[in-house]
Formats: sequence, structure tokens, C-alpha cells
Amino acid sequence: MTSLTIINPATGEPVDHVPNHSVEQCLDAVASAHDAFHTWRATAPRVRGEILRRAYEIMVAEQDRLAALMVRENGKVLSDARAEIVYAAEFFRWFSEEAVRIDGDMRRAPNGTNWLAVTREPVGVALCITPWNFPAAMATRKIGPALAAGCTVVLKAASETPLSAYAVAEILERAGLPRGVLHVVTPDPPAQAVQAMLATGVVRKLSFTGSTRVGALLLAQAAEKIVNCSMELGGNAPFIVCEDADVDAAVDGAMLAKMRNGGAACTAANRFYVHSRVHDEFVDKFTARMASLTLGNGLEPTTTLGPLVSAAQQQRVASLVERAVSQGAHLACGGTMSAPPMHGYAATVLTGVQHTDDIVQEEIFGPVAPIISIDDIEGSLGLFNGVAHGLVSYLFTRDAGRGMRLSHALESGMVGLNRGLVSDPAAPFGGVKASGLGREGAHEGLLAFCETKYISTEW
Ligand code: NAD
Repeated sequence: MTSLTIINPATGEPVDHVPNHSVEQCLDAVASAHDAFHTWRATAPRVRGEILRRAYEIMVAEQDRLAALMVRENGKVLSDARAEIVYAAEFFRWFSEEAVRIDGDMRRAPNGTNWLAVTREPVGVALCITPWNFPAAMATRKIGPALAAGCTVVLKAASETPLSAYAVAEILERAGLPRGVLHVVTPDPPAQAVQAMLATGVVRKLSFTGSTRVGALLLAQAAEKIVNCSMELGGNAPFIVCEDADVDAAVDGAMLAKMRNGGAACTAANRFYVHSRVHDEFVDKFTARMASLTLGNGLEPTTTLGPLVSAAQQQRVASLVERAVSQGAHLACGGTMSAPPMHGYAATVLTGVQHTDDIVQEEIFGPVAPIISIDDIEGSLGLFNGVAHGLVSYLFTRDAGRGMRLSHALESGMVGLNRGLVSDPAAPFGGVKASGLGREGAHEGLLAFCETKYISTEW
């Protein structure tokens, strides 16, 4: 078996090796998960919940080790990595509690002759595919509900950052998860193995988090066997500051919404629309905060912004900024790359941006904030909604009624109303339009791994 070398994006040095699984090995994992399904689905919900609860406790107890591992494979700063480990563990805690709340109901047939029993059954073998930007949380957000529902799992972790996924699997094993219930595979390149796994007909659920391009490709492949799909895809979040907003709160929210994970988040604020009456104050305060960030190795205590995950990603961000400047934008701060081997890009603010600029239309996935000045918030809904994606929107206003009216009108699965952070294991996370299908987290996240069964009864 060949292996994959995992590289530290801050130093260019190898961190570790993982197996580069062949197509046959991936198919063996699916077959083993299928064998395990029959016993796992029959396990008492309380037993499944307690394994998840123990895994939560181990992750929290070992957060320092897990966070340091994540920094080495992903590059994010240590405080972001620690926050992600706790967030990731919380999915195990939440779904340990959901495991014992898989309900059904009994309905009377309208003609009164009999009863309709409605139950929830685990879908079956779930193929879960995760990206590199949240290497632990995207894995636990899928594994947690899948195991709680009684599904078995094959997790295809991102080739750039598989170490956190392997660490989570090892913790679940220590927490008592029976062998065969969860497999981590890392075929690279992944396309052939994923297609082969979907083609078996044994995989009954595909839960994917990643780019819209790959999501669309996998939906087409899953259609062949009518596989149940959940898709958490790309974002292009507007960050809207009304003229009546608390500007300091908006700046705090902007730092969170833009800079969590160094901007490499699907929920990252991608385009800022600021009312002209508060534009200059917002730009001055936000630029000062952005310019104060220190780019460096995420393990150094003085670092507040880590590198991007790869040289390719660094080049992509740099070229988006160059194009915006050539299209007339002004650099309020940043715009520089760090020297190799670090793939860093400085925290950057661009003003004078146009809605039609590439940097507004594309997902940046880096620490760059393009700002557009507007004169009429309600009249600009067409701009806020005028992109292909619809994951999350951020909105700052002191008027609660206005905030709720605008929230309803925004075409996104989630809205941060006077908040720069929406992620919460207890909340239904997901997008509309090109941002995906289905929800993760909350009770909805559990139902995504269940089929509804109806039994027509007579007695
Ligand atoms: P990606 O689509 O390139 O890769 C995601 C996963 O799919 C990886 O495991 C990758 O190895 C695998 N993959 C890639 N090509 C494949 C193919 N042809 N067949 C099968 N599998 C394949 O995305 P990425 O660059 O790793 O992650 C960034 C993207 O993920 C961004 O667009 C971001 O917005 C999105 N994302 C979305 C959410 C969400 O919840 N909506 C969360 C995090 C990231």
C-alpha cells in the first residue's frame, strides 16, 4: 500500500503519513460497514449515546494534543484549533443526547378504520466526505448523527488534513465503538474510489461537505443508485451593516465572520455592504483591527493569523486581490504574501469594490474583506441575493423588526442577526441554492440519517 505524506503548511515539513487506500480497500471498508450495520442498528440507543458521550469527554480532556495536531496539518492558529476541537466534541455530546430521542408517532387513518404507525429507521451505510478547512468538526458533525441513528460509516477525509479524522476515529474506538462500525479511508486522488463506493448500491447515504463543483459531480453519481444525499457546499456570505447599526458591534462581528479560521470557512463573510452613512467609521475601525493581526506559524503564541492550506490556495487569493485592484478597488491594508515555505496571506481590506467584481462573485476562502458602500439597504436586496450561493448572511441593525424582515428576505439557509457566528451543534446548519441540500446539527441532523417508515396497522 502506498502512503500519503501530510505537510505542515507553515513550515513545508512532513508531519506524518497515512495510507493511500486503493479502490479495493475502500470497497472492503464499505463491505465491512455493511456487515456491521445489522448489529449496530440493533444496539440500544442508550448504548450508542454513551459511546458518543465518552468520545466527547475524551476529546475535551485531550483538546491540547488534538489542537496541536490540527495546527500542524492545517496551519490554523492554535486558538482556532482549540475552539474547533471543542466545537467538534460538542457534536458528539449533542448527538449522544439525540440518540435516545429518535421518535415516531401513531396517527389515526382519516376514515377511522385503522392506525398509521410512523417510525424512524437508520438509512444504512453512510459515506461521509469532509473538506480540509475544519478537519475535526466536519467529521464529527456527520459521524455523530450517523452513529446515533444506527448507521455505520465510511469517512473519506480530505487528503490535506486526514490526521484529525484518524484521531477522532481512534477516540471513538477507545470510547467503545465496535470494530467495523466506522472506517476512515484516504484514497488520493479520491474520484475513482468514491465513484466505486457509490456504485456498489450498498452505500445508502452520501453526506458531503466541500465545494459546489464536487458536490454537483457527486449528486450526479449518487443519482445512479438513488442514494439519499446531504450536501454542505460553498458559501458567499453578504455582511450587511445598516445605517442604524452599532458600528463597534458590527466590527466585532466582522472580525469573527471574516477571520474565523483565517477566512477559510464556508460561513466566511465574503462581501461587505456598508451603508454610506457609517461606511467610513466602519472601514477605519475594521481596517485597524485587520492590520493588527500577526501572520505566522499557528503554534507561535504571538500568531493571530495562520497560513493558507497550500501554495495553490495562496496564489488563488493573491490573484483575486490583484484582479480587484486592477478593476478599481483600493487596498486599505494587506495585499501581501508571506515568503515560502509559508503559504501565508496578510489580512486585507479592499474598499471601492463593485458588486460585479470577481472577488465579490467568487468564494475567496482567505483573509480578504471587499467592502462596497451602498445608500439604500432595503433597495439592495437584489445585490445581497444576486449570487449563486445561499449559505449564510450577516446583518447588523439596532431595529429588531427591520432585522427580522430583512432576515426573511435574504436568500440563505442561515442569518447572523447582530452576530458574526452562526455555528452551533444545536442549530440546523445548511444552505439554499448552490450552497446545498439538507441540514446538519440539531434534530434535523439526526433525521438526515434516518428513513421514515410507515406501518399500516389494524387490530
Ligand atoms: P473539495 O470539494 O475540493 O473537497 C472536499 C472533499 O471532497 C475532500 O475530501 C476531497 O478529497 C473530496 N473530493 C474532491 N474531488 C472529488 C471527486 N472528484 N470525487 C470525490 N471526492 C472528491 O473542497 P475543499 O477545497 O476541501 O473545501 C473547501 C470547500 O468546502 C469550500 O467551497 C467550502 O465553502 C466548502 N465547505 C462547506 C461547508 C458547509 O458546511 N457548507 C463547510 C466547510 C467547507
